[in-house]
Amino acid sequence: MRVCVLGAGVVGVTTAYLLTRAGHDVTVIEKAPGPAEGTSKANGAQLAYSYVEPFASPKTVKNLLNYFLGSDPGIKLGLTLKPSYWGWGLKFLNNCQSSKYQKNFDEHKSFAKLSRNTLSEIESEMPSGAIPRTGKGKLVIVEDKKSFHGLLASSRNSAEEAHVRPLNKAECIELAPTLGRNNRPIYGGVYCDTDEALDTQTYCSVLLSTNIRNRKPNLRFNEEFQSLILDQGRVSGIKTDNGTFEFDAVIACLGGDLNSVLRDYIKPLPIYPVQGYSVTLPATVDAPVCSITDLKHKFVIANLGEKIRIAGFMDTNLSPTRSEERAKELLETARRLWPGIADYNAEPNFWIGQRPMTPGGLPIIQESKTPGLYINAGHGSMGYTFAAGSAARIVELIGSV
Ligand SMILES: Cc1cc2nc3c(=O)[nH]c(=O)nc-3n(C[C@H](O)[C@H](O)[C@H](O)COP(=O)(O)OP(=O)(O)OC[C@H]3O[C@@H](n4cnc5c(N)ncnc54)[C@H](O)[C@@H]3O)c2cc1C
Repeated sequence: MRVCVLGAGVVGVTTAYLLTRAGHDVTVIEKAPGPAEGTSKANGAQLAYSYVEPFASPKTVKNLLNYFLGSDPGIKLGLTLKPSYWGWGLKFLNNCQSSKYQKNFDEHKSFAKLSRNTLSEIESEMPSGAIPRTGKGKLVIVEDKKSFHGLLASSRNSAEEAHVRPLNKAECIELAPTLGRNNRPIYGGVYCDTDEALDTQTYCSVLLSTNIRNRKPNLRFNEEFQSLILDQGRVSGIKTDNGTFEFDAVIACLGGDLNSVLRDYIKPLPIYPVQGYSVTLPATVDAPVCSITDLKHKFVIANLGEKIRIAGFMDTNLSPTRSEERAKELLETARRLWPGIADYNAEPNFWIGQRPMTPGGLPIIQESKTPGLYINAGHGSMGYTFAAGSAARIVELIGSV
């Protein structure tokens, strides 16, 4: 089949890879000059299968007032009159109910398993080390006993359960010695030795340059999708700013742009932008090799080789000026809590990204009401980790040649 993948973020690139592997003739259309220039660009860089708890939970409801009042340092929920926000918010609250949360969490865990297995399969056909890793292992730290027990419970039945082990404070400091250099409270953490980190742009470049069973997807950057061409209601091609082209199927991997780009073809899907930030700095010799999740302060740290990426916070509806301040707050929080892991005096490379969040946290992967148009979007905080599983689901829907 001639398949068009719209969008070359981590989701589009991985989808294009697996569809090519399944024998389809794949073309990727991306408006940016290269892959991973949208939300995928400077994210937390973590392939983290061991800890995939959805944000919509009973715990989140208890803290909502703090998030709205701005008293939680990691989450600031600004208000807006936009109906899409309120519609999404009601669905989000519905997903916070205990039974829904548990169901979503179980699905997150099976999605993580599928993703982990699919990426392993992809790599088994490549020369060893073709997709390099700069960070190995992941440590999630917490400051109190209650959070520690919550964390242990969350890791149960995870994709990597066999590799997850609880650590006391001294063991956390052994893995990340700078933790012992300030007197912040640490209760303990969990460590998973199979989680990994790698810059998403490197990941995408490797996938796009690999020969996949002697084929490669056709890449068209700097080209913007404009509309579908339909034949008796079925997709028969697309129109871009470069012309019209025939395709048998179109897979929309448009992240947070999905609803606006496809407004003429689909009913708006519940995907809301939840803003996050990152700052990338030169690494020091004290940089931890493993990734870190600092659960209370809601940010992650990833080792990217010569650089360290600090990414996190979850905000909605902030002004551009407040957003810039928040990126700086992330840097200052990391400087205070994680001294010495990065050269904090170097010029910081700030980035602001929008997580395309669904209310329950799982991506939307389906054929739309327009035959031949498929959706693979709404990956929220987990798009890099879940990209391989999502691509596998699309191949299941479309079939192999
Ligand atoms: C601060 C932060 C940290 C994060 N950390 C992690 C992490 O550590 N691990 C993890 O798993 N996930 C993480 N995420 C989430 C992850 O980054 C996202 O879920 C993921 O990038 C979404 O990928 P995507 O391909 O769906 O969207 P995008 O990367 O946004 O790709 C969509 C693409 O569509 C293109 N496009 C839009 N309109 C058109 C058009 N008309 N024509 C052609 N192309 C078009 C855009 O240019 C874009 O490249 C993080 C997110 C943030 C914000």
